[in-house]
Amino acid sequence: MRLILLGPPGAGKGTQAQRLVAKYGIVQLSTGDMLRAAVKAGTPVGRQVEKIMASGSLCPDELVVDIIGQRIDAPDARKGFILDGFPRTVPQAEALDRILGQKRLDLDAVIELRVDEDALIRRIETRVAEMKAKGEKLRDDDNPEVLHKRLEAYRQLTAPLIAYYRQHGMLRTVNGMAPIDDVTVAIDRVLAAAPAAGGRQGAQQGTPSTKKELSA
Ligand code: ADP
Repeated sequence: MRLILLGPPGAGKGTQAQRLVAKYGIVQLSTGDMLRAAVKAGTPVGRQVEKIMASGSLCPDELVVDIIGQRIDAPDARKGFILDGFPRTVPQAEALDRILGQKRLDLDAVIELRVDEDALIRRIETRVAEMKAKGEKLRDDDNPEVLHKRLEAYRQLTAPLIAYYRQHGMLRTVNGMAPIDDVTVAIDRVLAAAPAAGGRQGAQQGTPSTKKELSA
């Protein structure tokens, strides 16, 4: 099983990815986590991306494509993987298509978690307040100002991927505003209904229909 989870910051990609990992025995490949680990370890890549990440901008395409290209080759990714936070631009998606093509691997689906923008801001504010209350260290990019920058990067650079994968017949949309367990059920349904790569066009689950939906 090879999946992409697509959605803006705070859409719940990480939460759903962890559930899919447990259910299918596949690995979660989060470029955000990998880059944060590189920053923490002070590697050359980490030093290169530290300021970019803290500002809420995206890291260079070639850099993240390289990281993912290598990570997909690791033995633990052989059974499958969930990409979380990658691809984030159309050039990254094109690079991923090339990488998978060379390895003769297919994607099973691209799952879009569709959410309302105001709710996202509230979710991230809650996450920040909870972490502060627990005395946990906040991510450098978890503050309101940087959040707006991250949402802007999403709208400009990542949202076009929705159209990209819809055109490729890969896109499956679920309502990310539903309770966490309901989102999980919706994803399960989508995967049961659409196992083959490039299958049905843009199947849709749930009925998100607010004006502020973040989509392409
Ligand atoms: P979010 O919670 O905003 O979805 P992530 O943890 O996925 O964030 O990523 C945090 C930061 O890491 C991004 O704001 C960006 O700077 C960098 N990053 C992660 N993945 C990518 C990617 N695929 N391309 C470019 N930059 C990335």
